[in-house]
Amino acid sequence: MGLLSQGSPLSWEETKRHADHVRRHGILQFLHIYHAVKDRQKDVLKWGDEVEYMLVSFDHENKKVQLVLSGEEVLETLQEKGERTNPNHPTLWRPEYGSYMIEGTPGQPYGGTMSEFNTVEDNMRQRRKEATSLLKENQALCTITSFPRLGCPGFTLPEFKPNPVEGGASKSLFFPDEAINKHPRFSTLTRNIRHRRGEKVVINVPIFKDKNTPSPFIETFPEDEEAAKASKPDHIYMDAMGFGMGNCCLQVTFQACSISEARYLYDQLATICPIVMALSAASPFYRGYVSDIDCRWGVISASVDDRTREERGLEPLKNNNYRISKSRYDSIDSYLSECGEKYNDIELTIDKEIYEQLLQEGIDHLLAQHVAHLFIRDPLTLFEEKIHLDDANESDHFENIQSTNWQTMRFKPPPPNSDIGWRVEFRPMEVQLTDFENSAYVVFVVLLTRVILSYKLDFLIPLSKVDENMKVAQKRDAVLQGMFYFRKDICKAGGSAVVDGCGQARNSSELAAEEYTLMSIDTIINGKEGVFPGLIPVLNSYLESMEVDVDTRCSILNYLKLIKKRASGELMTVARWMREFISNHPDYKQDSVITDEMNYSLILKCNQIAHELCECPELLGPVFRKVKYSGSKTDPSN
Ligand code: GLU
Ligand code: MG
Repeated sequence: MGLLSQGSPLSWEETKRHADHVRRHGILQFLHIYHAVKDRQKDVLKWGDEVEYMLVSFDHENKKVQLVLSGEEVLETLQEKGERTNPNHPTLWRPEYGSYMIEGTPGQPYGGTMSEFNTVEDNMRQRRKEATSLLKENQALCTITSFPRLGCPGFTLPEFKPNPVEGGASKSLFFPDEAINKHPRFSTLTRNIRHRRGEKVVINVPIFKDKNTPSPFIETFPEDEEAAKASKPDHIYMDAMGFGMGNCCLQVTFQACSISEARYLYDQLATICPIVMALSAASPFYRGYVSDIDCRWGVISASVDDRTREERGLEPLKNNNYRISKSRYDSIDSYLSECGEKYNDIELTIDKEIYEQLLQEGIDHLLAQHVAHLFIRDPLTLFEEKIHLDDANESDHFENIQSTNWQTMRFKPPPPNSDIGWRVEFRPMEVQLTDFENSAYVVFVVLLTRVILSYKLDFLIPLSKVDENMKVAQKRDAVLQGMFYFRKDICKAGGSAVVDGCGQARNSSELAAEEYTLMSIDTIINGKEGVFPGLIPVLNSYLESMEVDVDTRCSILNYLKLIKKRASGELMTVARWMREFISNHPDYKQDSVITDEMNYSLILKCNQIAHELCECPELLGPVFRKVKYSGSKTDPSN
């Protein structure tokens, strides 16, 4: 989840003293990169996915499942046997926030040919197999977005009691520091966010009110003043970064052929984020309760919200420079392409000095304000050995701020002195249970970028409407119930819109309000006669014009079918399927409580589905698979 430096981490007070230094040099590093590569052209499409995994252990006798805190060990072996032994190894592994998490990517990026779409799923399978082969008896590697009993007593193996003391990382009543990855970056981030904010983070997720859920639903925390004050009635209260960053997601990064193509894709895909997030909804349960949301987004957003009371507008500004309207983990605040400019209707807080400096260096207004907005944030971690850097050849200070702005999209300049091009990262998706589903979502998004570029599509709407969509997207069953602002005519961009601006298609007097309307996800994805063509039909017509081998076409069609049916409601989202599983569980008392035993049955079932040991047509449809797994470490017949 970001830059990993080695060394001695500084406390918040020390980091704060260096904040201006980090920002100043971060900007110089950005300028070096920008000037060196702003005119790079003709980089080819390359792309890659990132899947985050959880390690779980089943106790079949006591019907309990726990998160195993062995991520660091498993990662070490994966890297040793993989990339360190063979630079062309087909998988790459990285640490993630939880000590029970790891992250896997393909060893090399995928290229631009259609047949690459046919290798994504095999690579994901290989990752699952590689990591699974290192696990102990009764352990499994799961792709679940949020672990339903995260933060409940004894949720880790080995078990640890939270120790809510000031000197610790989270100071959480529920999430022990031992569940945080041991790399000092992660605990330092956690502690420094809390210290910068001046209090523990506060996450309140609305509880799902079932027949027997107490109303109002109130939890009391008599021993903890902070929790007593922060927890809200009818909400599930959480108090640690781990409740957010301890969730898993699915991300895709693309290399564009030039900076302007990257900026265009960044903008176009930003409008798609809420739609695909709702389609990928997979996280309905928190801290042992059934919630009323389906997506993790707002939870993570609150879990890393380092803004002070002044910055959040609760107290007059005295020690801080700005009011800041969003957490560091949130949706983007400005479009980057010229076409996007007229839809930039969110008030943007920027560091004015940095903005002026960037303009003076020849950077245009849109890019300058984007960077000046990211740089209103303080660095959250700093390593003593990494304060003084070579700005012409290193980018750690730039990355420090950049990689702790966790937004729906990320615009990524090339690393210094590398042959990597300008990239964008698509970050809103929730991870799915199976490699088939994860491949489907990834291929759908990558295909969409091909279509956007080939047909010069235009999805832009005012950014404030994208933000409204983000709110709707997280609600329970948003995929079927939610209405989303979407552009009516997506074929309107001028011929040379991508590179040269917006062509003649727009004139400023055009009323933006007439350009978009509220649509269901079914309409957006599948189309509706006379209203909207639908993204899948557009993708299909693109595919018809492409040379694609039969096997690849068949895989792609299966993937698009999944997306299509999830959008129409013919198939369930993971979130909906999990809700039904729990509500049909014989132990469920319709009181919104998920017991250890219910959690065990659910995760066991998820693992069986992931290993194709049982069918799940309501979630996946009738899928015909090409490869079969050869067993998992957990025998489901137990
Ligand atoms: N796990 C985080 C999420 O679910 C993302 C962390 C990262 O940026 O890698 O969005
Ligand atoms: Mg990650």
